[in-house]
Amino acid sequence: MHRRHVLAATAPALRGRSIAILVLALAAVALVVATSPAANTAGTPAGAAAAATPLRQSFDMQVPAPPTPVTVAGKPQLVYELHLTNFTSAPLVLQQVDVLDARDATVIAAVRDDALDRRLHRPHAPAGSGPRTIAPGMRGVLYFELAIDGDTLPRLLEHRIAFHDAGRPAQAPAIVRGGRVAVRTGAPVVLGPPLRDGPWAAVYDPSWERGHRRVVYAFEGRARIPDRFAIDWVKLDAGGRRAHGDEDAVGNWYGYGADVLAVADAVVVATRNDIPESATLSGRLQYRFEDGAGNHVVLDLGDDRYAFYKHLKPGSVRVAPGERVRRGQVIGAVGFSGHAGGPQLHFHVADADSPLGAAEGLPFALADFEVLGAYEDFDTLGRAPWTPLGDEMAARRTRELPAPITVVAFGTHGSQ
Ligand SMILES: [Zn+2]
Repeated sequence: MHRRHVLAATAPALRGRSIAILVLALAAVALVVATSPAANTAGTPAGAAAAATPLRQSFDMQVPAPPTPVTVAGKPQLVYELHLTNFTSAPLVLQQVDVLDARDATVIAAVRDDALDRRLHRPHAPAGSGPRTIAPGMRGVLYFELAIDGDTLPRLLEHRIAFHDAGRPAQAPAIVRGGRVAVRTGAPVVLGPPLRDGPWAAVYDPSWERGHRRVVYAFEGRARIPDRFAIDWVKLDAGGRRAHGDEDAVGNWYGYGADVLAVADAVVVATRNDIPESATLSGRLQYRFEDGAGNHVVLDLGDDRYAFYKHLKPGSVRVAPGERVRRGQVIGAVGFSGHAGGPQLHFHVADADSPLGAAEGLPFALADFEVLGAYEDFDTLGRAPWTPLGDEMAARRTRELPAPITVVAFGTHGSQ
């Protein structure tokens, strides 16, 4: 039964005649195993494993958004989440999660202990539930950003989980495999810069507990992460400061009012231009959830990809829905409207034109940018200079997603 289930799950993802033949061969073997009493008692490793592992319920394992490889700091990365729902009546404690290349069960990543704690988010977990524990009926979300070494990207991922019942830590771990997902083969969309010049800090970090990447919205019947690859762009001076004089005054921020550029030839699908903003950070306005993006522009890039620009300056939006824009065209100005930490441009790409979260965030690459350095610690951004790039790193980057909290420069004309 188990073997048949695996084959059924695999078949739609396979391509090519030789693989089809392999599938037929495996199906024939499965049929023999299933129909021959001798095979079940022959003491094969498969038979022994089946005898040693009684059937038990555990997790439903799902990868809702298949990963698309995107290059970050010279290496391809797979960014995605594994959702685990506990369908048993007991709290289950995760011991280790392995990411496997499903073709040959090679371990691509093994996560346990503190690393597992950092990667696991348990929405609304019951108070007092232990670390790595998923209560009955509850869900855990594991966040992966896998940097792939070497030239060969896995095409099909699978996950292996070792776990035990919360009340029986000495118990031998139970193992469950699942969460198969095909890696998307298409390259991420390559875009022009959303801003000119620099230095601009690419503010995001996948590990932030409440940052873009970890905010799941369950709208329109599905849990999604629209900001999976979102970046907040904040302009700095050479000393790493965000503002001249008093940082509380929005108008003192270096980025405030900077031109925002179309990243591609595209069609405008949505705009807002009338949401007010305060003149100071301390006087920050309260916004309804629906207005959290502030003034914004959404561009249809084609192929079910949409670019989102948020927190624009009131009255600065120069385009209207239905209008065609050219790459590099000025469409608005950096502002402080909506739920923003300061004057900044929020930019992301997603698979639907919903500014309210009913869309999955997609990776994107910037065609060309210069890396000036990076911050090791987000808390020093705005207070100290960034750490310059080491000599061994190439400053000029093409077709990459900027790495977390790097400081970059774009061309003067937005089309370097
Ligand atoms: Zn943002």
